[in-house]
Amino acid sequence: MKNKRIIDEAEDIHRAAEMVRLGARMQMLEAETRLSREKLLKIYKEVRGVSPPKGMLPFSTDWFMTWQPNVHSSLFMGYYRFFERREGVSGLDAIIKAYHLYLDQIEAGHVEPALSLTRAWTLVRFFDADLLQLTQCRTCGGYFVAHAHDPTRNYVCGLCNMPSRAGKTRQAAVRKMVLRELAEAVV
Ligand SMILES: [Zn+2]
Repeated sequence: MKNKRIIDEAEDIHRAAEMVRLGARMQMLEAETRLSREKLLKIYKEVRGVSPPKGMLPFSTDWFMTWQPNVHSSLFMGYYRFFERREGVSGLDAIIKAYHLYLDQIEAGHVEPALSLTRAWTLVRFFDADLLQLTQCRTCGGYFVAHAHDPTRNYVCGLCNMPSRAGKTRQAAVRKMVLRELAEAVV
């Protein structure tokens, strides 16, 4: 038995189920709970009705730098920092709370969520490992996900420097929402 206390196990099962509901992959479940792989597989199947996808997570820091993921990741990180600094919540609890808020906000804006829970979790791990940082945009003043140790002085975010291909009206709406949220969750 990996777990000594039944109460601890019950808490882990509850958390694992919530993480699976939010889209977590096995790697995240194994890192964040003390449950056996067999138990986690069972929980996953019960909640989702299918087996989890196999294989390692292919994420690198580069994914978070592309336009849309960067905007979504920055919004999530704004919320995460808010919970960490203002509410004194940390680790997985802060990730889950921030992710709920991110989903609510993105869905209210009728935007497809680009950031999965597992990616959000990976993002926080990249911050903890000092691979990424939040950099302030010199145009809008918002804080955005950027490579750690990159020069920050003349940084302009993706929202202030939008690619021309996508629909302008839609992008303008996303920009307004994200900037408002980032200003409220200010670091
Ligand atoms: Zn900006």
